[in-house]
Amino acid sequence: MYSFLFWCLPSYLETSQILEKPLLQTRDLFFKIRRMAADPPPRLKDIVIVSIDSDSCDRLEARWPWSRRIFAKMIRELHAKGARIVGLNVSFTGLEEGGDASSRELGEAMREHGRVVIGATSDNDRLVKPSPLIAEGVARFGYLEKIVDADFAIRQSYLLRLYSRGTSSTGAAFASSFPLQLLASDRSESEITEPHFDADLGLLTVGRPTLGVYLNPDGSYPINYVADDGDFKTIPAWKVVQGKIAEEEVRDKVVLVGLTGSVFGDTHPTPLGILPGIAIHANEYLALSSGRELRFVPDWATFALSWAAAVCVLLLFLFRRLWLGVFGFVIAAGGLFLGAQAAFAKDFVIEPFILMLGPFTATVAGVLSNSAKLLLENKGLETKVIHDKMTGLYKYEYLRECLEEEWRRCKRGNLPVSVVMTDLDRFKKINDTLGHETGNDMIRRAGAVIKESARRYDIVSRYGGDEFVVLLWHANLEEAKAYRQRLRDAYHQMAGKLEDPLLKESSISIGVASFDPAVDPKYPPDTQRLVEDADKDLFLDKESRRKPGEARR
Ligand code: GH3
Ligand code: MG
Repeated sequence: MYSFLFWCLPSYLETSQILEKPLLQTRDLFFKIRRMAADPPPRLKDIVIVSIDSDSCDRLEARWPWSRRIFAKMIRELHAKGARIVGLNVSFTGLEEGGDASSRELGEAMREHGRVVIGATSDNDRLVKPSPLIAEGVARFGYLEKIVDADFAIRQSYLLRLYSRGTSSTGAAFASSFPLQLLASDRSESEITEPHFDADLGLLTVGRPTLGVYLNPDGSYPINYVADDGDFKTIPAWKVVQGKIAEEEVRDKVVLVGLTGSVFGDTHPTPLGILPGIAIHANEYLALSSGRELRFVPDWATFALSWAAAVCVLLLFLFRRLWLGVFGFVIAAGGLFLGAQAAFAKDFVIEPFILMLGPFTATVAGVLSNSAKLLLENKGLETKVIHDKMTGLYKYEYLRECLEEEWRRCKRGNLPVSVVMTDLDRFKKINDTLGHETGNDMIRRAGAVIKESARRYDIVSRYGGDEFVVLLWHANLEEAKAYRQRLRDAYHQMAGKLEDPLLKESSISIGVASFDPAVDPKYPPDTQRLVEDADKDLFLDKESRRKPGEARR
């Protein structure tokens, strides 16, 4: 059953996609814990964000979208102060009001700097390049698309994307993303400057030393969020435009310029909370340039780990202590979670739900088998406690309990209750003459006859020795007497078939007693009277059939 659970559950979960959301959210939790536990990569110091916020709009008396002149000023200032790379998270498509002068000025400023990367958008599978006057001056442009997943957070991005038209004469080409272009710019002094994509392997390599990122077939990859908004050094745009920054703030840095205020609409939910688009790109660039792409541990390895933990948990359950098994589960689950988190600190993604599957199913199986075992044990114990070993009939104590219950029920429903008591006649003689074993045998036979003569739901018990007591369910005196007759006949029939004359002629005395509201509407206060009356009747019955001169008991 356990293996069934273990092998069926994962495929069910996968096909039903039930786990998609919790899986993503657990990974988000990993991101948050890792951010709390460890500082971002050292290359964070390389990055400066220039934030275009409403305060800058006010101070520069410029309404968004800003004139290209302002950006030209900004780039010249950054160039003068020695910024290594300038990444503008803005796509300068189309024409600007007031003619080409400002576009030419911006193109000029970018050419002077030499390492400016700007954004490009796409329109219906077509990459929209910046207007030509700008494109001329720009070192590189990368598209800005990010993927919002079903859970409405940005967890994936494209590094490469195939565009069908507009980027080359063949009509189809790969275009690289903005962060990837930043990285390629950063590595322009090395031998390989352009990203190289091996479509067969799905491997993207950039620069030397080589950075390799395995991409999904559509060119996307999971973003490794290593820093949150507050981690980046941020300078307001107005300060840069007005030349109020110190050289050491930007010298030799990768300066990323983008909108940051939520009023501009370029803020998005991410695993580390709401981040402006530029901070998402900064994260991508930071992770890529630090060689910290997320690596997914293959499912088979996760299963193996999960299975090993499951075996440990199951072994603990085998000790037949429920708490030990549950304790094992807590330790295994906690250990695996911490292990997965530790692996995540090294950028290895182990799907926590697949990991938990083993210990979880082991616990379900352990608890089920444990309770089944307990149930069986209780049942066995119960049988021992309430059954007479020799005859297999109930013990008299059990009949007493049933009688009390039956008594209350009958009183409520105005129903009759009857008790029958039996005793074998001259049993000692059988014992003495034929031996104790034959006596036992006779007791068993008598018990079987008494049981067979009763109805299925009547309670037949051994009182002790050669005496039996029967509780006849809802039977009045008449029915009890009918039972007596039935039983006597059956006993004689059974005895008649036996060989030894002593057994063949043996007999049974039967006493009956009933409380029947139809005869006497006043019930006695307890059941003791009923048993006593049956005993008295038994005595009378025995007396009536005693041979003259025979001793009384
Ligand atoms: P009566 O006709 O008056 O009933 O006389 P009796 O010989 O049957 O004697 P009584 O019912 O008073 O005693 C029953 C005897 O059954 C007493 C005891 O020696 C014997 N006995 C009690 N328990 C067992 C048992 O488990 N197995 C056997 N073989 N004999 C038992
Ligand atoms: Mg007897």
